[in-house]
Amino acid sequence: MPTIQLLVVQPTPFCNIDCKYCYLPNRTSKAVIARKTLYNLFSQVFSSGWFGDGLSVVWHAGEPLVLPIAFYRDAFGLVESLRPPRLQVVHSFQTNGTLIDDDWCAFFAEAQINLGVSIDGPRHFHDRNRLTRSGRGTFDRTIAGIRLLRRHSIPFHVISVLSAASIASPREMFDFYVAEGIERVCFNIEESEGDHISETLRASGIEAAYYRFLGEFWKLSAAAPGKIKFLREIETALQQVIRPKEVQFYNQLVQPFAVTSIDWAGNISTFSPELLGLKNPAYNNFILGNVNRATFADLLDSPLLVRLSADIDAGVAMCRDQCEYFSVCGGGEPVNKLAENGTFASTETAYCRLTKMRTTDLILKALDQISPDGFDRGSITSEGERFDEAAVSCETSPSMRRTG
Ligand code: SF4
Repeated sequence: MPTIQLLVVQPTPFCNIDCKYCYLPNRTSKAVIARKTLYNLFSQVFSSGWFGDGLSVVWHAGEPLVLPIAFYRDAFGLVESLRPPRLQVVHSFQTNGTLIDDDWCAFFAEAQINLGVSIDGPRHFHDRNRLTRSGRGTFDRTIAGIRLLRRHSIPFHVISVLSAASIASPREMFDFYVAEGIERVCFNIEESEGDHISETLRASGIEAAYYRFLGEFWKLSAAAPGKIKFLREIETALQQVIRPKEVQFYNQLVQPFAVTSIDWAGNISTFSPELLGLKNPAYNNFILGNVNRATFADLLDSPLLVRLSADIDAGVAMCRDQCEYFSVCGGGEPVNKLAENGTFASTETAYCRLTKMRTTDLILKALDQISPDGFDRGSITSEGERFDEAAVSCETSPSMRRTG
C-alpha cells in the first residue's frame, strides 16, 4: 500500500504575476477547484489509509493568495471535518508575497500555515525575472509582504531562484537576507521543465559557480551566528551524507503516490509534482485519473501508473549502477530526467550535477576540514566509498534535521 507524504493541491492555476522562468502553462486561467472536488479528494485520501502519522498539504497554484481567505477557511474546515483523529495535517503555502496584507497575516497565524515566500534576492536580481504581466518588477510588493510578515511575527522561509548573476554574488545575497531579517533560506536553480529550457543550467561554468556560491554563503552564515538559521541546501545535504549506515536514503519523488498532486479540475498525478500540467501525449499528460470519477484504488491499477513506474524505476536502477552519488540521491528527479534527457530511463542531468553532486562534494570537503582524522581516508578510492565512510563514522545529529 502506498503512503502519501505530500499532497500538492492546485486550488487555481491563476497567477497574478508572470515570471520569465515560470513553467505553469495555464497561469492565466481563473478556474477554481470545486468544493465537491476537495471533498472527494480528502475523503478518498483519508479513507484509503495511505498515510502515516502526518500529511503535509501544499496549496500550490498559480498564486494561492489570489483566492480569498474565506476559500481556505472553508477548505481547511472541510479537511478538519474529514480528518482521522490520529492524523496530523499541516497546511503550507508558497506565495509570491505580493498580496500579503494584515488579514492574510492574521489568517497565517490562525491556521498555523507553513509559509514560503519567493524572492530572488535584491531588487536588481529579483526584477530580472519576477515581473507583472505588463513587464514591471515585483520586488517592491514582495518585500513589502515580507516586512509585514516580520511585523506580525509570522514565521516564514524564502525560496530564491538563482540566476547566473546572483550565483556570482554570494556576499550581496547574504547581506540582503540579513538586512531584511530573513533567517530561513532555500535556493532553487532555474530548471528545464516541459518546454522551458533553463539558460542558467546551460551556462558554461555553472557547476563551479554554484559550488563557490554555496560554499561562500555557508561560510558567511557560519561567521555570523544567528543570522541565517536555516539554509536548506546545506541542512538537507548534511542529513543525507551524515547518517547511520543502516538508514537508507528515501527518494519520495520516485515512489508512487508518496507525492500526490491534484489540479483544480480533480486530475491526479504522482512522482514529480511539476509533471501535472505538462503536455505529453505519450504519458496521457501524466494524469492517472480524476478524483471525481475514480477511486484511489482504481488509480493503483492504472496502466499508465505501471508504465510510469517501470520507466522511472529503470532510471533509478541505472543511477544505482552508474552513479557514485546514488547513496545520497536515490535516483534524482523524474521531471528533470525527462526534460533534459528526453526519457525517465536515464541518469545524470545538469540539475542533479548541481543540486546533488556539487553540494555533496562541498559537504565532504567541509567534513574533511573539520575533522581530518574522522574518516579513514587511506581506504578511500572513490567518492562513493567516501559516502559510506561518512555514514559509518557519524551519528545523525538532531540539530542537523531539516526544520522547514
Ligand atoms: S546524482 Fe544524478 S546520476 Fe546520480 S543518482 Fe542522482 S540523479 Fe542519478
